[in-house]
Amino acid sequence: MKYTEIMVRYGELSTKGKNRRIFIGQLSKNVKNALEGYPNVKVRGERDRMHLMLNGEDYQGVMERLQPIFGIQSFSPVIRIEKTQELIKETALEMMKEVWTEGQTFKVKSRRSDKDFEWDTNDLNREVGAAIFHGIPGIEVKMVKPDIRLEVEVRQEAAYLSCETIFGAGGLPVGSSGKGMLMLSGGIDSPVAGYLSMKRGVEIEMVHFYSPPYTSEQSLQKAKDLTVKLTPYVGSIQFITVPFSEIQEEIKRSVPSGYWMTVTRRFMLRLTELIRQQRKGLVIINGESLGQVASQTLESMLAINEVTTTPIIRPVVTLDKSEIIQIAEKIDTFELAIQPFEDCCTVFAPPEPKTKPKLEKVIGFENRLDIDGLIQRALEGIMIEEIKVDDQFLNQMTEETDDLL
Ligand code: ATP
Ligand code: MG
Repeated sequence: MKYTEIMVRYGELSTKGKNRRIFIGQLSKNVKNALEGYPNVKVRGERDRMHLMLNGEDYQGVMERLQPIFGIQSFSPVIRIEKTQELIKETALEMMKEVWTEGQTFKVKSRRSDKDFEWDTNDLNREVGAAIFHGIPGIEVKMVKPDIRLEVEVRQEAAYLSCETIFGAGGLPVGSSGKGMLMLSGGIDSPVAGYLSMKRGVEIEMVHFYSPPYTSEQSLQKAKDLTVKLTPYVGSIQFITVPFSEIQEEIKRSVPSGYWMTVTRRFMLRLTELIRQQRKGLVIINGESLGQVASQTLESMLAINEVTTTPIIRPVVTLDKSEIIQIAEKIDTFELAIQPFEDCCTVFAPPEPKTKPKLEKVIGFENRLDIDGLIQRALEGIMIEEIKVDDQFLNQMTEETDDLL
């Protein structure tokens, strides 16, 4: 079928009042970013719909790119034709012949904003319906829940026909809610937390704590590959590597082992907070899930959270592990996340971390450390890189090693 454009229906945007323009602007930008490789497509964001003029580009390829974009409720490939009665009937029949399979029912649903057009919507439904009914032997009409709904829209400039609606990713356009720093480990939970916050419009930047030589380069590459998995929703993501070895060594030297975890987390949070300020983020996101491990009891959260007043979004806090895994499988981060490369927390994991740390004690232990110096040196060593959809890290490394052998 020679589709001429794709019509995109907005998700929750319609309820957003004055912010609507911002939302549509952000969505247009995200759609354009996602359409790299389709230079002829023209994106036009209107109040109620977004139109993507294909100008000869492959509609299926373009629709694949639209699938993961948040803020899209649904979309349909559409044919724009001159609005003559004959052409409308002919094209409708041709379209239906292409999608219809034996036994399926159909219905025509028309709309008309050009009130001067000779047919009103009832005429349109009847005439186009009859053309299809007579043109395809065996096809039946069904008013309620038909298998195929052919939509005809007659507007001032042209007529538009479509018969396929594909569900989009829902949610809000990434970036429309502002920016957040995602604390990304190499595990299952934090990528899911990132995905869920993007779904609600938050643009994320990754903050990853890295402790060489205690953690291998593979663990860092793995975190970057997990980031790659989240890029289709936005195009690219900034990845911030924070050197964390010195802090962990100091904690291990000066703090009793039961409190390593609490103090470590507080350092991570302090650093993420400072990075958030530098990079003009509004929120911090992590993958904590209530009760999952010692650092994720409510008492621990209270003691850890004490270092910042920035809101922390914990998208998976109330989910069971199996529910988190389900989402991880859906977004294809699970297989990668369970690859066994130790991360900085597992290496320094104490035998018995406190599940109910006392804040006074935490502060007492921390006073043995040069907090400001440690934080400052870590910040000075930060590395920032942009991660894109086609990047590859772990595999790349294996190939390089193979070459050496
Ligand atoms: P995940 O599966 O996300 O790694 P987890 O079950 O391993 O979570 P923890 O190791 O206790 O749980 O980590 C809790 C949260 O702390 C993580 O979800 C992540 O947001 C943050 N975090 C842990 N380690 C790191 C790290 N090395 N760099 C950045 N953030 C981290
Ligand atoms: Mg982890």
